[in-house]
Amino acid sequence: MASNGALDARDRAATLGQLAAGRFDVLVIGGGVTGAGAALDAASRGLRVALVEARDLASGTSSRSSKLVHGGLRYLEQFDFKLVYEALRERDLLVSKLAPHLVKPVSFLYPLYKKVVERPYVGAGLVLYDSMEGTRRPVPRHRHLSARGALKRAPALSPDRLAGAILYYDAQVDDARHTLTVARTAAAHKAVIATRVGAVEVLRGPDGTRVTGARVRDEESGRTFDVSAAAVVVCAGVWTDLVHELAGVQAGYRVRMSKGVHIVVPRAAVDSDTGMVLRTEKSVLFFIPWARHWIVGTTDTDFDGDRAEPAATEEDVEYILAAANRVLARPLTRADVIAVYAGLRPLVDPRESNGGKPTTKLSREHVVGVPLPGLASIAGGKFTTYRLMARDVVDAAVADFGRDFGREVPGSVTDQVPLLGADGLHRGEPAGRGLRGEPGRGGTPAGPVRDARRGVAQPHQVRCRAGPATGRRATVPARRGRLRGDRRGRAARGGRAHATDPAVHRVSRRGRRGGGRRGRDHGPSARLGPAAACRRDAPVPRPDRGRADGDRCRS
Ligand SMILES: Cc1cc2nc3c(=O)[nH]c(=O)nc-3n(C[C@H](O)[C@H](O)[C@H](O)COP(=O)(O)OP(=O)(O)OC[C@H]3O[C@@H](n4cnc5c(N)ncnc54)[C@H](O)[C@@H]3O)c2cc1C
Repeated sequence: MASNGALDARDRAATLGQLAAGRFDVLVIGGGVTGAGAALDAASRGLRVALVEARDLASGTSSRSSKLVHGGLRYLEQFDFKLVYEALRERDLLVSKLAPHLVKPVSFLYPLYKKVVERPYVGAGLVLYDSMEGTRRPVPRHRHLSARGALKRAPALSPDRLAGAILYYDAQVDDARHTLTVARTAAAHKAVIATRVGAVEVLRGPDGTRVTGARVRDEESGRTFDVSAAAVVVCAGVWTDLVHELAGVQAGYRVRMSKGVHIVVPRAAVDSDTGMVLRTEKSVLFFIPWARHWIVGTTDTDFDGDRAEPAATEEDVEYILAAANRVLARPLTRADVIAVYAGLRPLVDPRESNGGKPTTKLSREHVVGVPLPGLASIAGGKFTTYRLMARDVVDAAVADFGRDFGREVPGSVTDQVPLLGADGLHRGEPAGRGLRGEPGRGGTPAGPVRDARRGVAQPHQVRCRAGPATGRRATVPARRGRLRGDRRGRAARGGRAHATDPAVHRVSRRGRRGGGRRGRDHGPSARLGPAAACRRDAPVPRPDRGRADGDRCRS
């Protein structure tokens, strides 16, 4: 509800009041990265948006991923070129413009064991991978290493059979923190966002054809009430089929749950100054640097248990340890494992396939369905492509607004909307410069404003001015993945380690050098930076003429 992006428990009663009393253009069900992205996408087009999340933001899959923003090298092998191409473009946009404070380049070493065949094969794949990047090139290109060079970078590797390696780059992100930031950015664009509010019924109009909103339950009080909206967008991840049931419809696809497990080990347990990726029988295994730890995973197995509480089994952990130990000089043992977490991929399975394919072979592309007028849903996809998924599902939801409500909705502009905290960190922009050139001050959607000043054609021209810093606390987001095992205490401490990530501190220093607070980011419960108060500069198509939104920022 706050235009500064604060999502504050103290505002809960007011937020619920707004949900009950308002008439929204779009109601989003689900507060993972896709739902938060859809709320931002719709709100930044100038629509009135509400989002309800049954538990906490990012409490589903969006806090339990491998935390990579990547094209996915292995999808090239499956000839999924479109997915890799789109994902790499998104990776580059996030690193260079939309979220450089959250999405950082990371290197991976791919060890080679078959000198003659493997190097040209993997090398050709990486040439293709690098060539799919956009023109920004925020991450370096791959390079070949000898066995000696590989051991220098990763002394943890066993020299046995090692024929060399290839070093390539992708990016990583704290997924829960990123999701929270997307939601806060949507709130800064006036989206009404409520957590612990679940959709329990999808409502239809008197003639039963068009969806008119949803009945929701406040999970704190148990009270139910209706939220009225011209369109409902379902971004419920592995819960999507259940929400379709609430609407009494069946989509052309069903969501197949695939469980992925990661273990967390101390950084000292694996001596390497780069991440690593290994081929496994069915897929790949990553060693992902995570501050003072390594995240090692993942698995990919069918799952039919409790969606809310996927848990790792002994077998999952043993599988990861065995796969990792195939290449390590000093094997990892159970004693090294300080945490384990499991998440569920919401994969799309066409109904006609009857679940025949193994989950590793299912495409990671997303699918949008419109099972009823006014109801659009999305499933599949990847964290990396959340912005495209959000764009596509909102496009589908508002496609008939012209016919049914006599108003056309402008296209997506989120490729021009940096997330909160990114202002001033664009590549080539001096850190901390405000929109009017004042150091350390500025509004939220800086990108479009700056571009507009440079004369680049913009979907909507805006001018923003800095507002006062609020000093309010943001809510702490979802817990990270579920921690298991007898070393839970240590694991919990480990889960916070990202806050001390040197990369985060680098951003802080840039922010301070620029004299402002905007470059700083001290984690999910950080104090918020300056608020943006924005006004429309040029007329833009107004989705709702009756709305008093003079201070809405359209970017
Ligand atoms: C192990 C693993 C590793 C992965 N690694 C990567 C990676 O490295 N890179 C990458 O790009 N992708 C990765 N992914 C994929 C990525 O994490 C997911 O595609 C993405 O997080 C899905 O987000 P989502 O918003 O669609 O779903 P979710 O995050 O699950 O959000 C759905 C939300 O809907 C809410 N909800 C459900 N029903 C209702 C209701 N009735 N009312 C209100 N709210 C409701 C839920 O509480 C939940 O918060 C990985 C996935 C897994 C499982």
